[in-house]
Amino acid sequence: MPSHQSAKEEIKRAADIVQVIGQFVQLKKAGKNFIGLCPFHAEKDPSFTVSSDRQMFHCFGCKKGGDIFAFWMDYHGLTFPEALKDLAERYNVQITDKFSATEEKRRSNLRETLLKINEAAALYFQQALSKTARENPAADYLKKRAISKEIISEFRLGYALDKWSGIVDYLKKHNIDPEKAVQAGLIIPKKGGGYYDRFRGRIMFPILNLRGQVVGFGGRVLDDSLPKYLNTPETPVFHKGEFPYGLHASFKAIRQKGLAVIVEGYMDLLALRRHGLDEVVATLGTALTDQHIRKIKGYAKEAVVVFDPDEAGRNAALRSLPLFLNEGLPARAVVLPDGHDPDSFVNAKGLPEFLKLLDSAPSMFDFFLDQKLTQDDSDIEGKVHVLKEILPVLSQLRNAAQRSLYVGRLSERIGIKEEVVLSELKSLNQDRSGDTLERGLKSRLTDPKLDKKIGDIQLLNLLVHHPKTVTGLMDSGCKALLSDDTASRIVEVIFEKYRREGQFSPENIEETLDNDDVRIRLREVMVAGSIYSDQEVKQAVEEIREKARQKRLSDEVAAAKSDPEALNKMLLSKRRAEAGC
Ligand SMILES: [Zn+2]
Repeated sequence: MPSHQSAKEEIKRAADIVQVIGQFVQLKKAGKNFIGLCPFHAEKDPSFTVSSDRQMFHCFGCKKGGDIFAFWMDYHGLTFPEALKDLAERYNVQITDKFSATEEKRRSNLRETLLKINEAAALYFQQALSKTARENPAADYLKKRAISKEIISEFRLGYALDKWSGIVDYLKKHNIDPEKAVQAGLIIPKKGGGYYDRFRGRIMFPILNLRGQVVGFGGRVLDDSLPKYLNTPETPVFHKGEFPYGLHASFKAIRQKGLAVIVEGYMDLLALRRHGLDEVVATLGTALTDQHIRKIKGYAKEAVVVFDPDEAGRNAALRSLPLFLNEGLPARAVVLPDGHDPDSFVNAKGLPEFLKLLDSAPSMFDFFLDQKLTQDDSDIEGKVHVLKEILPVLSQLRNAAQRSLYVGRLSERIGIKEEVVLSELKSLNQDRSGDTLERGLKSRLTDPKLDKKIGDIQLLNLLVHHPKTVTGLMDSGCKALLSDDTASRIVEVIFEKYRREGQFSPENIEETLDNDDVRIRLREVMVAGSIYSDQEVKQAVEEIREKARQKRLSDEVAAAKSDPEALNKMLLSKRRAEAGC
């Protein structure tokens, strides 16, 4: 079997990074590269860049980047051994399983164990749902709610028996370490020793990640007892607010339609699916998070959030506006008629009526204003209050066209002149960061080192995009032209590697660098593309050589100033050299 290094190489040959990342992020072509909204930080304008030529990604915003393994690890929150195993399975590459006993290995072992226990538990709950009705009221409940067998099996629904040691006994029978099951959040230790079931008398909804693994469970009661929902606690494989429920089953439909419908409950989601609406996810009874939206925007161009008509639902809607604005995902808000949730609404009135509601839903922004303006009346105090709440959100919008659109809407809705809103917004921006931003720009433009930085840019660009230039540059003394440590380090490593091996590739260099800043710098040069055409390369090398020669000379002159004898000698030898002696 091949070593890890060769397995890694083989996977890189088999997998195209644009295709791999494109499964999770909407990418569009921009010149030689592909760009999209970064899945790792909040942004409204794409700075997340994927290079097909380099088989590499880099985000100019948060600076995350690397090869497909780096993406897989960051996106799915995995260790390297886990990412390698995952991708090897997907691309049919055999790997040995001999990682050294590192912390990484221990973590990935624990996670693997917990996923296996979750899988066993999911099967246990599924089996319980097929038991006779006396022991299992859930089957009857689902039948009354008209949830079909197909949906039950697609979403792997189950039932936690109303017992204290149902799953405890089952795990014991299957020789599963109870301490590990505690870590998976399935059972709880008793004070006097022993364990008991966390989930009792609940319909069980396994929560699957985008790789189809069961990471946790949500349990819902069958009656009105509380808590209505009980979820797996935080575990090494389950993090609350990370995934919207059902995304693993709906992401294809969401991408196809460009739309994601976001509801609150499991039953809402299942009811909509049953009526034929596939592009739907649920928030698992928790508030929407930026992580939810970041995952969703990898597939959707727009979201419609369906809120319950109660106070809590309205407040949740108001809180979610800044999230959507910050993540750059356009959103609309639907509040259902009183007394309805999506489940009851679609069952009572059918899907076409529900779709009508979606179609006529106002933008989240208008919805926000509607709610605020009725809440705060329309006196001047109320208007000022609304301005105070909304302006900080708008001031974060980087997209000027979008911002001016919202300012227009805002002034129209609250009846305050657009100029006034704009000047308020401007003063807010200045208080915050506008000033410092401007200062930063000025100091950059008048930076005496800027001229030197051009040297960095040229030299790095030549070496990375035209590696053959290394022969002309290595002995030129060009390193003296560099102005910062990261650039110097990259050039140093390239020269060293070339001296030793007679060749180098920027991809391999990136992998071997141990300093993050240096790696980021190199990735940015790699992803940015060449600033020289092939015809210009030779001349560029000549220019750098000449600059390096002049630099050497002026350094020598500076050093010799205090010593006239040495200066004379130097000038003489220079003249001789120029005369060709
Ligand atoms: Zn980013």
